[in-house]
Amino acid sequence: MRLANISGRLHLVTPDDHVIDVSMETGGHFSPRIQDCYERWPELRSVAFTLEQWSGTPLADVLPSSFGNPAPQPRQVFAIGLNYAAHAAEASLAVPDDLTVFTKFVTSLAGPHGTIVLPPGTVDWEAELVVVIGRGGYRIPAEEAWKHVAGVSVGQDLSERTLQSSGPAPQYSLAKSSPGFGPIGPLLVTPDEFDDPDSLELGCSINGQEVQKGNTSDMVFPVPEIIARLSQVTPLLPGDVIFTGTPPGVGVGRVPQRFLNPGDELVTYVRGIGEMRHTFQ
Ligand code: ZN
Repeated sequence: MRLANISGRLHLVTPDDHVIDVSMETGGHFSPRIQDCYERWPELRSVAFTLEQWSGTPLADVLPSSFGNPAPQPRQVFAIGLNYAAHAAEASLAVPDDLTVFTKFVTSLAGPHGTIVLPPGTVDWEAELVVVIGRGGYRIPAEEAWKHVAGVSVGQDLSERTLQSSGPAPQYSLAKSSPGFGPIGPLLVTPDEFDDPDSLELGCSINGQEVQKGNTSDMVFPVPEIIARLSQVTPLLPGDVIFTGTPPGVGVGRVPQRFLNPGDELVTYVRGIGEMRHTFQ
């Protein structure tokens, strides 16, 4: 199943690439607010098959600018640092023995298209797989973890490196939380849509030049392990968002270092989900 936030309303994307307004087509049984659907995830999944038989608007006719973040108001946002060994190496940091966790404050979340204002400093890119929780839980075993996932999407963990490295300890959460620094979208795709949800190609390009290309199979802590370890400490709630870490190729690890400039266009993708497109000013 695939979902989208189109013009602020929950839509289902059918297997033949049409979009259905879920609230409208169920006579208001479901809220048009996409964040609400995670609270009623099993029920939505059970009606999705019927809704998918209906005809809707062709997906290709939806303007890119109409797509919003498919998880816009999570109660908790987790982000995992140094989750690809080659990225830890380019950051001159050791591969961690356990999760390195920070948050991106919810006001940093944004949709998959648009313009992002660069704050002063050095802003870097981090293409990431984003996981959205469907069924919450506490102390979820890794073997059960994918059953707790509503779906996955494309994310960017934009990071202002000067602030991040100022002070005696890294300022990950604040440095990664300027407005627009956490774009997600365009679609939320359920794990069963993939042959192997633990092996997804992802990456990004700047002005048409590829800067990151990796595969989630190279994660130090794969998605089930992230969910098991996070939920060992803190309960996960429906609609929670997890940024799962970035593969190598970020700007701070380059010689010479490279950062985003006004006018740059950043395209971020996860194969099988779609792509996001942002410009900077
Ligand atoms: Zn990251």
